[in-house]
Amino acid sequence: MKSIQQVMAFGKNCLMHAGCESPGLDAEILLCHVMKVERLFLYTWPQHMLSKENFNSFLEHIHRRETGEPVAYITGFKEFFGRPFEVNQDVLIPRPDTEKLIEAALSFLPFENSASIIDVCTGSGCIAITLALERPKICVLATDVCPKALDVAARNIDNHQVGDRVLLRAGNLLEPCQDQENVDLIVANPPYIKAQAMPALMRDVRDFEPHLALLGEGMDGLFHHKRIIEAGIDLLKPGGHLILEIGYDQMPDVALWAFDKPMLPRFIRDEADNIRLVSYEKLGAC
Ligand code: GLN
Repeated sequence: MKSIQQVMAFGKNCLMHAGCESPGLDAEILLCHVMKVERLFLYTWPQHMLSKENFNSFLEHIHRRETGEPVAYITGFKEFFGRPFEVNQDVLIPRPDTEKLIEAALSFLPFENSASIIDVCTGSGCIAITLALERPKICVLATDVCPKALDVAARNIDNHQVGDRVLLRAGNLLEPCQDQENVDLIVANPPYIKAQAMPALMRDVRDFEPHLALLGEGMDGLFHHKRIIEAGIDLLKPGGHLILEIGYDQMPDVALWAFDKPMLPRFIRDEADNIRLVSYEKLGAC
């Protein structure tokens, strides 16, 4: 029998040798997941003995993490904008960076107003569901080309009880939304990693997250963005907005074509002062 303190030290050591960036934190999260306790429990009861089953499943989890598998795929959950979302290898793990997109979107959505929104490449559904939870009167149409990703999004919609206001449609980018008009807001975190940058990605990302959700198309990795803008213009109402996440170094590429549209572009910086969002307003509002 081993105590919390002993297995924590062991797990941290294994992950440190495997090159994990945050070995102590990862070991804590995995142990909490196995024991179904909060992190405070580990500090309050360091001498508590693990059952044999818990010890064995902790070892299994540590081993998976040693191979580079992200903690979120092992636990099956990731927190986004303060809420838990189910994830698996069919969807991208929601990033803190994308919370900036949520903040930008909310700034266009007064709390009491109804609005029609489209979330393109919804993946786990984290963007669509978060917007619906933050704004009680909006409706979101969420699209994804990958049926397995839509299954994950559907479970997250159920878990967060927003099935009456977040609808899923299968298909590529905005193709399944051609029947829509007068849309208030289109948001998307499309794949944007350049093919030549893929080999240099962290192993955890490169070897475990779905390449379909990561890999942009075209020399600049921004082909999906261009297609969303082109198709999005017709769907938006005058004065409506379109917000896209981009890579931290892609602003110059975006700037090459951003102004060549009947929409007004604006670049938005994150806390690290990188431009990570491009936000368009469709001209012609009265
Ligand atoms: N919308 C999801 C997210 O932001 C998935 C994005 C994607 O698959 N490229 O996490």
